[in-house]
Amino acid sequence: MTMHTIKRIIIAGGGTAGWMAAASFGKLLGKTLDITLVESDEIGTVGVGEATIPPLLTLHKLLNINEQEFMAATNATFKLGISFENWRNVDEDYIHSFGTTGKDCWAAGFQHFWMKGQQLGIAAEYGDYCPELIAAQQNKFALLNNHSINYAYHLDATRYAGFLRKIAEMHGVKRVEGKIDKVHKCQDSGNITALQLQSGQIIEGDLFIDCTGFRALLIEQALHVGYDDWTHILPCDSALAVQTTSVEEPIPYTRSIAHEWGWQWKIPLQNRVGNGVVYCSKYVSDDEAKARLLASVTGDCLTEPRLIKFKTGQRRKHWHKNCVAIGLSSGFIEPLESTSIHLIQRSIVRLLQMLPYNQIEQSDIDEFNQQTEHEVNNIRDFIVLHYHVTNRSDSPFWNHCRNMDIPASLQHRIDLFKRTGRVFKVPNELFGENSWVQVMLGQGLLPEQYHPIVDMMSEQELDEFLKHIQSNVQRLVAQLPSHQTFIQHYCPTR
Ligand code: FAD
Repeated sequence: MTMHTIKRIIIAGGGTAGWMAAASFGKLLGKTLDITLVESDEIGTVGVGEATIPPLLTLHKLLNINEQEFMAATNATFKLGISFENWRNVDEDYIHSFGTTGKDCWAAGFQHFWMKGQQLGIAAEYGDYCPELIAAQQNKFALLNNHSINYAYHLDATRYAGFLRKIAEMHGVKRVEGKIDKVHKCQDSGNITALQLQSGQIIEGDLFIDCTGFRALLIEQALHVGYDDWTHILPCDSALAVQTTSVEEPIPYTRSIAHEWGWQWKIPLQNRVGNGVVYCSKYVSDDEAKARLLASVTGDCLTEPRLIKFKTGQRRKHWHKNCVAIGLSSGFIEPLESTSIHLIQRSIVRLLQMLPYNQIEQSDIDEFNQQTEHEVNNIRDFIVLHYHVTNRSDSPFWNHCRNMDIPASLQHRIDLFKRTGRVFKVPNELFGENSWVQVMLGQGLLPEQYHPIVDMMSEQELDEFLKHIQSNVQRLVAQLPSHQTFIQHYCPTR
């Protein structure tokens, strides 16, 4: 039997990506591998990234994280979805919730039944058939024994990294503080051999995880894998973030409010609110965006507005040689659907699944890259959908988004849904039919027809079917306390 030659994993960077990787690898591999994380206090982290999506709960189970402890430590609140305000048009809102709308039906999605109901004038709003969405609207939340609610969290990114660090260190991960100055490579293989710190310290390893954020110190600056630029379909290139005091009870959803040149987020934590604008510098100056941000936040500013510049896109290779890019170093899709932290989690799990046995095999690298690219491209399409399918025509930014050429894969989905009301989740895709339908309808894409199977129901049967679902939703939500009341009992901050 061959000896395993991957013995030392070096994680460069200690933001959310670095510490998520360190905690996961430490917990699952810490007994057999030597794991070191290098981070620079001087450089710090990007400091944003506070809204998550439900699959994070799976990672937390894997890490044996106690939810109450985690929530108290990170000032977390519950999140049931995202409210998209002014996206379809000015003064028109919808919620993309994490819940299932209506009922799953093997032949035709619930939207087909709803569409006929609408035509007959017997259907309520589409969202009225989704418990998570109604709970969000009514600012309610609880964990129930008799019904599982699909949720995620809003969390404090800096505290989250600190929380994960404790788990990682408990499982033997070593932390080195210092600035990486040089990346040493083997002249023959091109593999990375060591990181050299400004202090002169050399850290050697077998497998390197690049979590250095937008700098992409290893994967790009040392290995030059290249970048696919998506600015033509996701033109926003700047963000400003500011934290404010809370002036009201935290709501259980993220707010995403569109402006003439981008959008604004509001993420309520237990103790404060995270705010920011994402915008396209071609259409608005940094100063103007900052003025708009500061004029629209409620509460007092706890931080100075922080400017972040980015280029949407992804690395041509997420894994190259003996280096795997995880987090912002691997690419950036703007945080409209809170997908970045999720992609970190997916890359960690995928790398665990393809952990080199003996030596790094090119076939593993290719498989990893192909799966990651496929997943990222589908998320990109979903994000582009929000911009492209809109009735807004009030600014050059929205005119560009409405008229821009979009990927053929997205055009196909839009055309299919428009003609037939059908949409299908492709294998290994993050967002399911339920999400696609909510956003397509929410953005104003109304199908021309519904599935013929719906006509098997008489009008009276359809009416009873719809009313039954709606009354179940109302009954369920009526049981829930307010989000704030639940948090106070369940996981107050210490
Ligand atoms: P960083 O946090 O930048 O960490 C990089 C690390 O590398 C730091 O520790 C730094 O010190 C270290 N480093 C860099 N260079 C060196 C060096 N030379 N030597 C030593 N160490 C070095 N994601 C979501 O899921 N939800 C959201 O709501 C969300 N909102 C976002 C909003 C904005 C405006 C932006 C820009 C991103 C958002 N994201 C969001 C993405 C999310 O912030 C990131 O995915 C997440 O924080 C991970 O970042 P990171 O760890 O890759 O990088």
